[in-house]
Amino acid sequence: MEKVTEYFGSMVFDDRIMKATLSEKVYKSLKRTIDRGTPLDISVANAVAAAMKDWAIELGATHYTHWFQPMTGVTAEKHDSFISPAPDGRVIMEFSGKELVKGEPDASSFPSGGLRATFEARGYTAWDPTSYAFIKDGTLYIPTAFCSYTGEALDKKVPLLRSMEAINKQALRVLRLFGNTKVKSVKTSVGPEQEYFLVDREMWKKRKDLIMTGRTLFGAMPPKGQEMDDHYFGSIKPRVAEYMTDLDRELWKLGILAKTKHNEVAPAQHELAPIYDTTNIAADHNQLTMEVMQKVALRHGLVCLLHEKPFAGVNGSGKHNNWSISTDQGENLLSPGETPAENAQFLLFLAAVIKAVDDYQDLLRLSVATAGNDHRLGANEAPPAVISIFLGDELTAVLDAIEADKPYGGTAKEKMKLGVDVLPQFSKDSTDRNRTSPFAFTGNKFEFRMLGSSNSISCANIHLNAAVAEVLRQFADELENASDLNSALHELIKRTIKEHKRIIFNGNGYDDAWIAEAEKRGLMNLKTTADAMPHICDKKNVEMLTSHGIFTEAEIFSRRDIMLENYVKTVNIEAVTMVDMARKEIIPAVAKFAADTASAVAVKKSVSEAACKYETKLVTELSELIDKMDAATTKLEAAIAKFKTITEIIKASEFVRDTMLPAMEKLRAAADKAETMTAEDYYPFPTYDKLLFGV
Ligand code: ADP
Ligand code: MG
Repeated sequence: MEKVTEYFGSMVFDDRIMKATLSEKVYKSLKRTIDRGTPLDISVANAVAAAMKDWAIELGATHYTHWFQPMTGVTAEKHDSFISPAPDGRVIMEFSGKELVKGEPDASSFPSGGLRATFEARGYTAWDPTSYAFIKDGTLYIPTAFCSYTGEALDKKVPLLRSMEAINKQALRVLRLFGNTKVKSVKTSVGPEQEYFLVDREMWKKRKDLIMTGRTLFGAMPPKGQEMDDHYFGSIKPRVAEYMTDLDRELWKLGILAKTKHNEVAPAQHELAPIYDTTNIAADHNQLTMEVMQKVALRHGLVCLLHEKPFAGVNGSGKHNNWSISTDQGENLLSPGETPAENAQFLLFLAAVIKAVDDYQDLLRLSVATAGNDHRLGANEAPPAVISIFLGDELTAVLDAIEADKPYGGTAKEKMKLGVDVLPQFSKDSTDRNRTSPFAFTGNKFEFRMLGSSNSISCANIHLNAAVAEVLRQFADELENASDLNSALHELIKRTIKEHKRIIFNGNGYDDAWIAEAEKRGLMNLKTTADAMPHICDKKNVEMLTSHGIFTEAEIFSRRDIMLENYVKTVNIEAVTMVDMARKEIIPAVAKFAADTASAVAVKKSVSEAACKYETKLVTELSELIDKMDAATTKLEAAIAKFKTITEIIKASEFVRDTMLPAMEKLRAAADKAETMTAEDYYPFPTYDKLLFGV
């Protein structure tokens, strides 16, 4: 068997291949573009394109595609072959620098939130040389950004790159204040832990809800759920293990650093975590990982569910976004240092993150808001919809000491002197684990735990980077003008703690008492997508995002509309699917069972009146439930009809939240009750016990 070290990255046009296939001049010029963003000369682009094509053809590729991430949340691709006619009737394989650098897909069918009327259909894709090209299924994939012809971002990569640039710029200003002149760039890194479910494909095929919406819209709890805690880290079943092995291999070929795999809390739930990488690459790789996960599953007769809440009653799936900031010199700015000066710098960055999360709670919350994730957040399994930061006891004690001007850890009565040299020294690895916090410090990085499993990580990181960049800007402005840096620094940190400590919470985030406490502290509790999303257009958010060049105002408004449209369309599809299943499958099945039971009553009655007590009671109860289901379905149909008449998107989202979703819940409750009373043979599709324990 081939060794991992031999096939890892074998499908990637990475640095090693670039070095081997490009002339030194071209390689150096490309490197400058990758590292510093200097524009690429067309002659260099031509040389790179030729080398890429030869390499790709050697590995069996016949096509190339500009791979991009429109606002749909999934990736898009249009394949062109390399062929070009030759005079003798044959073909040659061609790929020019122009084709590498720029593509022109018809943009009219992608969501733009009104940014681009369909008559101006043109959009273009631009090569992102910082993310390596790769080969998948006989096609050369070129990671690209997607813009309208007037330059507005129509995707998630453009604003992500802009947010990384913003934080780079502001963090450098702060580092210069500490006398650091060596650092040339600062980058954010992310390690996204990806949760997912695996179900049997034959069972999946029988469920319209899974096929249409990715989640079960009906289903009573099986006798066993996750209460035994026997699945988390449990031994992996052979069929799942084979899947995971195959998946690792496919990901490794694509240069994705898949590292950790294990069973998760819910039955049939698993997790995959890669080694962290630069945010932009991590985002591309996570999209690719989700796609490969689903494809490899099919080869094993499985379906990989990435929905945030495929099953009610057991945990849903999230994606933990482990985030840090580091310099090109390899220094992690969120890592407590050894010396007081290093610690002062660390504390400043820590304070910046605390203030950023407090000031922009709404932006972080709405960056993870989708119809699917609404079923998780606040549902006693995932972090609540309220944002707070977990720091652990030791770090919190350090901040308390700074705020109170007391020495940290000591008992001395003497007041802590101002200045960098007396900021407390403390040890690394001081954090305990808290699995209920939305935003937890884990020693040298923050773990943002609210992301849904199917979310692109781009949105969360755009907003997180932007918010931290903004606070670093404010800090740099203040400190650059200070006459005495040390005391200004101390004052700034102290003031920041005082003003923003309300966002710090080290307790149990799943506790109802915390939600009440959070309200007292004035923290936001944006329960649904409909509540959260409009806040992106709040003045303070628009000002911040535009001032750092992350979005234009038009882009912000368009994104709100796209995300809300996504929300209402998702729920509407679910509602329509429910009606379909109720009318065509569930009600007929239960009615048939009731009718057959009633016939039994008729037969038995001729023998003895008393012999039919059970059947009579059952028929009565089933009939009541059938009427209930019918009534609930009729209500839902009315809601769907009403929904069609609402044209204003905010109103539509409120209608979905206040009317449609509650109507769906009513129908589900009646149907799930009926399921528990209907003989298994009559039930039209596989139930939870089979789906959750059938692999
Ligand atoms: P846990 O499940 O305990 O949270 P894991 O080890 O499963 O931890 O996942 C942690 C993730 O954090 C991995 O993807 C890892 O590569 C990533 N990570 C580790 N260090 C950093 C860092 N400095 N910056 C960003 N991500 C990191
Ligand atoms: Mg984690």
